[in-house]
Amino acid sequence: MTGIAVLGSTNMDLVAYVARAPARGETVTGREFRTVPGGKGANQAVAAARAGGEVVMIGAVGDDVYGAALRAELEHSGVFTDLLHTAEGPSGTAHIVVDDEGGNAIVVIPGANSTMTALGSGETAAIGAADLLLLQLELPLSAVVEGARSARAQGVRTILTPSPVQLLPDELLDCVDLLIPNEHEAAALTGLSEPQAAAAVLLRHVPAVVITLGAKGCLYAARDGAPLHLPAPAVTAVDTTGAGDTFVGTLAVALGEGRPVPEALAWASSAAALCVQKPGASTSMPYRSEIDAA
Ligand code: AMP
Repeated sequence: MTGIAVLGSTNMDLVAYVARAPARGETVTGREFRTVPGGKGANQAVAAARAGGEVVMIGAVGDDVYGAALRAELEHSGVFTDLLHTAEGPSGTAHIVVDDEGGNAIVVIPGANSTMTALGSGETAAIGAADLLLLQLELPLSAVVEGARSARAQGVRTILTPSPVQLLPDELLDCVDLLIPNEHEAAALTGLSEPQAAAAVLLRHVPAVVITLGAKGCLYAARDGAPLHLPAPAVTAVDTTGAGDTFVGTLAVALGEGRPVPEALAWASSAAALCVQKPGASTSMPYRSEIDAA
């Protein structure tokens, strides 16, 4: 089994569905409200566990009802939560307004995630015991850098999803084996909107990159070989939330199993295509048997 450590965020998404988002000073009556477990770290952990990885989640929830629910949701998907700390205060929340045109506006309040500024010996040991470490940018950067360094020092491969996108310090990039931005993040990081050109720039800093391209699939590029564009399966998408996290979590499992990169990318694309055909993020992530069947 592939051992995967995820150092990342857990958030409860509080989603209000409205015809039209309110303007400043305005009150509107919405149609529906949902609480959905999220956070990029937790979503990648769920995707990897469902795909058959042995996954440990490193992070923090608050000592509130959302924290308990977020922990239970991870455990339900088979993620180990011994290193998911319970911090005093509120869990991370994302306050999301979705309008009838599918547009959204989001306020993220990091809450307990912001207490994860450094790692202890338990976290370092869990990273060392894993085959791969998954990182995103929803925890304080100090912890992300420390995690990446710890992985590098212990010979553990790292995958970084640069989201939410921000300037990446060299001390972090130096410890990243595979960078997986979406096309918007790749453009923001490089100033280049053409994926091949953006990939070429990113390869100056990391040995390999996958740029995800939504319904257009993904582009893989590494320093040691020709780039590979893999189209996505043609499916009818109903909700693309969580597709990127499904892709990353599933790809990590396949790479950890030693599968060749093209095969691993195809498997991750199948998983992400299954995710977009159902509403929700973590709730729509497929299990291994479903991915194999697809
Ligand atoms: P994105 O974060 O939008 O780039 O999506 C991540 C991955 O999810 C893509 O590389 C695809 O494999 C998959 N995906 C996203 N949107 C679709 C879609 N409409 N149809 C099929 N696959 C998709």
